[in-house]
Amino acid sequence: MASNRCMNTSCPAPTSLHWTKGWPLGSAGFANLCLNCGSAYENLVFCDTYHSEEAGWRDCSFCGKRIHCGCIVSKSMFECLDYGGIGCTGCVKRSRLGVVRLVSELANF
Ligand SMILES: [Zn+2]
Ligand SMILES: [Zn+2]
Ligand SMILES: [Zn+2]
Repeated sequence: MASNRCMNTSCPAPTSLHWTKGWPLGSAGFANLCLNCGSAYENLVFCDTYHSEEAGWRDCSFCGKRIHCGCIVSKSMFECLDYGGIGCTGCVKRSRLGVVRLVSELANF
């Protein structure tokens, strides 16, 4: 029997009647989240809300947005860059189209 418990270890109310799908799991399927955590995940504020004290935060090299690297929740939200550093998926896509430049590149102008 599946355990009906929110997969957010910091969840303030881990039992719920309604569940939402969270991040893709390493094995198969998706994380089981209560409505609160599910909406935090959908709004991309999950790590900001529950992991702000944890280690592993890095900045996107393009937009400077903080991303919780080394965390399965944010795993699909960033990519490692060829020249080091990380970029959020939106910026990485735009950089491949040549639309955005690295923050560090801009600083040299
Ligand atoms: Zn929860
Ligand atoms: Zn996180
Ligand atoms: Zn970015």
